[in-house]
Amino acid sequence: MQVELITIGDELLLGFTLDSNGAHLARELAAIGVSIARRTSVGDDGPAIGAAVREALARTGAVITTGGLGPTSDDLTKPSIAAVFGRGMRMDTEILEALRARWIAKGWGRELPKTNEQQALVPEGAAILTNRHGSAPGIWLEDDRGRWVAMLPGVPREMRGVFAEEVLPRVSARAAASASAAGASGSAPVVVSRTLRTTGIAESALADQITPIADQLGGLSLAYLPHWPGVDLRLTAHGLAADAARARLDAAETAVRASIGDYVYGTGADDLAEIVLNRCRDHGLAIAVAESCTGGLLGSRITAIPGSSHLFLGGVIAYSNEVKATHLGVGDDTLIKFGAVSEETAREMASGVRARYRADAAMAITGIAGPGGGTPEKPVGTVCVAVDVRGALTSAKRQMVGDREEVRQRSAQWALDLLWRRMAETAQVARP
Ligand code: AMP
Ligand code: MG
Repeated sequence: MQVELITIGDELLLGFTLDSNGAHLARELAAIGVSIARRTSVGDDGPAIGAAVREALARTGAVITTGGLGPTSDDLTKPSIAAVFGRGMRMDTEILEALRARWIAKGWGRELPKTNEQQALVPEGAAILTNRHGSAPGIWLEDDRGRWVAMLPGVPREMRGVFAEEVLPRVSARAAASASAAGASGSAPVVVSRTLRTTGIAESALADQITPIADQLGGLSLAYLPHWPGVDLRLTAHGLAADAARARLDAAETAVRASIGDYVYGTGADDLAEIVLNRCRDHGLAIAVAESCTGGLLGSRITAIPGSSHLFLGGVIAYSNEVKATHLGVGDDTLIKFGAVSEETAREMASGVRARYRADAAMAITGIAGPGGGTPEKPVGTVCVAVDVRGALTSAKRQMVGDREEVRQRSAQWALDLLWRRMAETAQVARP
């Protein structure tokens, strides 16, 4: 079964918004064995929307759109697509009442503005896709030949919710029906991926270790996806039934982990900050941070994780030498002799913040994020990180690549990486 996606909005054509809706829908559909024949983006332009939908319907008879369901004059999706089906529009009193009730419940006013009433206009003969995440409902429109269009809201959170709750069940049912009509035995073929997240190793070094075991990957495709948190390895099974795909992925994951497991900190969308917090919890470690060039990024990564308050005590943004000295106890002689960006300073920052906050473990970062501030001995991208676990200090220096933002992101990730490894090495660290 094939589906076409049409994402609607001027912001997509102008490049102000990345088409994350298209990416999400493509992944979700692939997972149930539905392939995307084509993805199109059009602006907030009635005739363009109508033409795109008409052409897509002629090719596949199955179309999903996102965007343009709001109450304003640039929201043209419903009437444009209704016209393709030769349908008029009608006011749905149930939706109208729900909109009114929601308006009052949210405390936005006593009366729903006229503009918002538009959201209750639906094409004749359409089914309503309930939106439990926002105001604009989705629409399912189908003709007597079984050709259909599902219209979803543009706001990504609403789009994902309405798709999962209302569209996925309908599309799955159709995919299963078309597979059995085609005489396929057993379950329909799917496309399933699994991502292993690595950090602290370059793409080429990973490839050197994985290439020799390529024959153990069971014919799965393997993609190397480098970005600042590290290199993600994505294994994908194409065209197998779901159970067979899972078994093949399990076997390949085992082989990859046997070869590079030291670098794999998680799977899917795992965040190293969360993995580190979990390990801190296992080891009974309360943590603190001292940050120079990352200016709070590390603390932000940690506090973004729900429940971090049980383990994270706090930190110092020690940007100037004076703050490094007065708030963290970094020695003036250390700063003069080795400089603010040095392993020596990073170590004193880590032990200083650990002592000050009576933490069990501390991470410290000092570096030159750029674009200015580099010297021949310490070029832009020079970063030093230190970790202090109950008085056991480790530090390292690295030359980071990337612009200011990347250097900062990579530095925070690296500090987490260092603590994560340190805890793995000292799994036997006794509780005091
Ligand atoms: P709309 O439903 O067209 O009013 O869109 C509402 C908001 O959703 C827009 O301002 C965008 O920020 C966002 N949006 C719309 N389409 C997409 C898309 N394809 N991918 C990601 N975000 C989108
Ligand atoms: Mg729009």
